[in-house]
Amino acid sequence: MTISRRRFLASAGALGATATASVLAQPVTPRPLPFLISTSSDPLLPKPGGKRVVICGGGWGGISAAKQLKKNDPGIEVVVLERNPVFFSCPMSNKWLVDVVDTNYLTWSYLDVAQTHDYRFIQTEVVAFERERRRVVTAQGYVDYDYLILGAGIRYNYEAWFGNDRKAADFTRARYPAAYIPNAEHFALKAGIQNFKGGDLVMTLPPPHRCPPSPYERACLIAGLFKQNKVKGRVIILDPKDSPKPITEGFQEAFATLYKDQITYVPKAVIQEVDPFNKRIRTAAGDFRFDHGILMAPHQAGDMAWKAGVIGRGADGKPSGWAAVDPVFLNLKDDQNVYVIGDAVGLVSPQFSFYPKAGHVANAHARIVARYIADRVAGKAPKAALPDNLCFMMVNTAPREDVAVRFRYHFNEQGVIIQEQIDDNLRRDDLVSEDFQWASRMYEDMFS
Ligand SMILES: Cc1cc2nc3c(=O)[nH]c(=O)nc-3n(C[C@H](O)[C@H](O)[C@H](O)COP(=O)(O)OP(=O)(O)OC[C@H]3O[C@@H](n4cnc5c(N)ncnc54)[C@H](O)[C@@H]3O)c2cc1C
Repeated sequence: MTISRRRFLASAGALGATATASVLAQPVTPRPLPFLISTSSDPLLPKPGGKRVVICGGGWGGISAAKQLKKNDPGIEVVVLERNPVFFSCPMSNKWLVDVVDTNYLTWSYLDVAQTHDYRFIQTEVVAFERERRRVVTAQGYVDYDYLILGAGIRYNYEAWFGNDRKAADFTRARYPAAYIPNAEHFALKAGIQNFKGGDLVMTLPPPHRCPPSPYERACLIAGLFKQNKVKGRVIILDPKDSPKPITEGFQEAFATLYKDQITYVPKAVIQEVDPFNKRIRTAAGDFRFDHGILMAPHQAGDMAWKAGVIGRGADGKPSGWAAVDPVFLNLKDDQNVYVIGDAVGLVSPQFSFYPKAGHVANAHARIVARYIADRVAGKAPKAALPDNLCFMMVNTAPREDVAVRFRYHFNEQGVIIQEQIDDNLRRDDLVSEDFQWASRMYEDMFS
């Protein structure tokens, strides 16, 4: 049938009327929020023009990675998503607890360094990952990525002590904070030890934990504070290991000669039960009552690693608690554009299991992964690289003296990563200068 011009206009009119009616019938839902207030389901940034790397977590690993990526390839768009407004350094924070350094020494501006190196810093909570869409969801909107770097840090596994007893976990966190994660806990702990009136302060150590020698440094510095202020206080270290590790002799010597009356070291004290309400702890090495505590629950990879679904499984099929990555290239085996760096990284070697969970290692991982990504963006095959580690620990403040440990890594003939550990047990003042030089180098590397 041919359509006459008259009929066409009539039917077009009818169609138009239907279309107009259907448009009018749609509910008009004006956006309820002002333009710049976004929700999790809005895009937080426009789609990237070129390659975008999203870094989740602006701690030692994440913030190092941001600068290194821009240095390797200024053309890469780099976005850092971090919940804290300023960077607070856990390394050197034991010294801050006893006023060897002040708060300014530990805190750094995120916005300044992001401007200097032309990357974007967004203060926000990462709430979910949609890896099949290469998308990170934050409290303020979602961000799409080409490559993802997870610098998730750690979480406290209070569930290992308290199961689903949320009240006990919350009470412990508030009253006896471990201060092993950069947040308000450090300030609560500092007030707690500076105002300590005397009695027993227990410290629990879970394996593996962040910065293996740091609890012993903390014990020495707190014991030194008690001594200096003539507080009749005792630090009781409940250690599941049979001796302090690393730097065994250096710490043992400090406990025995400097803090005979202030430190009680209890080996093989595997925790069996923690009762924070009645201030009691049951361990394989005996039961303890305490007046104050630094109750460090077992550590695991931080919440973002769990939300991203990167946690491995142990031989028993249960979650290992740490990210399962390729030990050399640090990316997921089944999702190669996702990298994990720093403390969240899981098993890397049958010889030593985990890299020490140290800021130095996180910084080295960041350099290595930034290079891998820049190479891949340039179409080159990344060349394998391994980190190193170096750690200084203050054991005395009058006079100031440190001990130290160095770790080196290499491949054996089978391609397995091998660790060499060199303890420097003799406490002395020149190691204190090296300690501060190390910190300056690290801060400069991340923030200048
Ligand atoms: C007392 C103490 C002393 C130490 N001393 C040393 C030392 O002398 N030398 C050394 O090398 N190391 C030391 N360390 C260890 C060092 O602090 C860690 O190894 C290092 O911070 C690990 O870096 P990371 O990037 O893996 O984790 P982190 O530095 O913890 O970074 C993780 C980041 O992710 C952020 N984040 C977590 N979840 C979210 C979320 N959902 N949304 C947004 N952001 C999120 C966190 O706020 C944090 O900034 C010490 C640690 C402590 C506690």
